Amino acid sequence: MQVWKFGGTSVGKPERMKSIRDLVTADPGRKLVVLSALSGSTNALLEIGEALKAKDHTRANGLIDELRAHYHAFNEELFETPEGLDHGRQIISSEFNVIANLATYQPFTAKQDKELVAEGEILSTQLFTAYLMERGDSVTLIHALDFMKIDADAEPLFNEIETDLKSILEGRENYQIVVTQGFICRNPEGNIDNLKRGGSDYTASLIGGALTAEEIQIWTDIDGMHNNDPRVVKRTFPVRYLTFEEAAELAYFGAKILHPSTITPAKLRGVPVRLKNTMEPEAPGTLISANTSAGAEITAIAAKDNITAIYIHSTRMLNAYGFVKRVFDIFDKYKTPVDMITTSEVSVAVTIDNSEHLEAITEELSQFADLEEHDRNQTIICVVGQFFADKSGVAFRILEALRDIPVRMISYGASEHNVSILVDTKDKNQALEILNENLFTFENQ
Ligand code: ASP
Ligand code: MG
Repeated sequence: MQVWKFGGTSVGKPERMKSIRDLVTADPGRKLVVLSALSGSTNALLEIGEALKAKDHTRANGLIDELRAHYHAFNEELFETPEGLDHGRQIISSEFNVIANLATYQPFTAKQDKELVAEGEILSTQLFTAYLMERGDSVTLIHALDFMKIDADAEPLFNEIETDLKSILEGRENYQIVVTQGFICRNPEGNIDNLKRGGSDYTASLIGGALTAEEIQIWTDIDGMHNNDPRVVKRTFPVRYLTFEEAAELAYFGAKILHPSTITPAKLRGVPVRLKNTMEPEAPGTLISANTSAGAEITAIAAKDNITAIYIHSTRMLNAYGFVKRVFDIFDKYKTPVDMITTSEVSVAVTIDNSEHLEAITEELSQFADLEEHDRNQTIICVVGQFFADKSGVAFRILEALRDIPVRMISYGASEHNVSILVDTKDKNQALEILNENLFTFENQ
C-alpha cells in the first residue's frame, strides 16, 4: 500500500480535484489518500474563529455565508450527475450546519475554534470520496478522528495510531482507495485538535510509518525540494535525492514544502518519501530515504526566520561545571526548544524560535548568569549535505562565500550533514544568493 497526500492547492479547484482522481485511479496499486482542506479554507475558518472570539457575529456570519457559497459553486462544477450533485449538496449543508452551530457558542473557546478549523478537511475528504463514488471507483472514507491522537505535549501517539488504524482498515481490504483527513486529530481529552499548520504532511507520514507503507508520496505543485528558497534566490533546481537526515534538517530549518516533523515517522520505519508535482506527474520529483543521497557534497540550503539569539555568560568564570546543565534546565522547564548552540569556556549562546517564554527564561537565567542583550530578528541558514570530517573545505567554502556578511554564530560538526549559520534577517536574502552562486554548479541541472 502507498500513502498519497494532496495539499490544498491540489484539490482547491474542481478541475484539480478531478485530475487528482485521475492520478489516483490511473496508478494500479492500492492507496490511502490523505487530503488537506481546499486551498484558502483553513485560513477562512481561522478568520471566522477570530471574528467569533471578538464577538463580531455579523462579520462571522458574513464570512460563513461566503464560504458556504464557495463550496456550493465548487460542488456544481465537480459532480456530473444529479445524484452526485445532490450528494455533494447534502455534505455541504450538513457540515455548514455544524459550523453555524459552533458560531452560536458564547464564549467561543479554543475547543470550538479547533472544531471549526477541522471542518476544512472534513469537507474536502467527503466531497472527494463522493466524487469518486459518482465515478464508480472502489473508495471508502475513514475518519482521522477515529485513530489520529496526540498526547498532552501535542506529540502523536504513534503506537496507538498504529493499532487503531490497522483495526479500522481490517474489513476494508476490498477497497482500492481509502481516503482520510490530514491535519486533524484528537487530544488526550478526546477533543478535536490538529497537528499545526501544514500538518497534513505529518498525517501522511504517521500513517505511512504506522502501516510500514511501500512509499509515502507528498503531492504539491512544485517539482520537489529545491536546493535553495525559490522565493528568494534567482536560480534554483530540484534536488532529486535526499537522505532522511538531510530532508529533516531542511524541513525543520525552513523548506516550506514539508511540515517539519514529516520525516520522523517515515524514517522510524524506513519508508521512502517521494515529493511529486501534480502539474507534472511524470517528473521524478525528490526521493527521500535512508540511502538516497544526491551524491554531491553540498545538497541544499534552507533558512528559518524569527530567531532570537541569547548570549549567556557564567558569573563564576573558568572551570564552572554544571553551568550548561543549569542553562538547559531552564529551557526544558519552559518547553522551549533550542536550535543552535555555541560555547566558549565561559559563555554559551543559544537560539530559539519560540519567544513565548523569553521573559521568564531571561529572568531565571539572570539569577546565575550575565546576559547580553538578545539579538532578535535573526535567521538561521542551514546548509546540508554529506560532509565527512576527513574531507576538508566545506566550512571554508561557506564562510569564504559569506566574507562580507556579518555572521553571529556558526555551528559545525555535530552531524556530518549540517552547517548552521546565524545572520541578521536583513542580510538573509543576500547571504542565500551568495551561497547559492558559490556552492552549486548549475550546468547539469
Ligand atoms: N489545512 C491545514 C493547513 O492549511 C493543513 C495542511 O494543509 O496541511 O495548514
Ligand atoms: Mg503543506
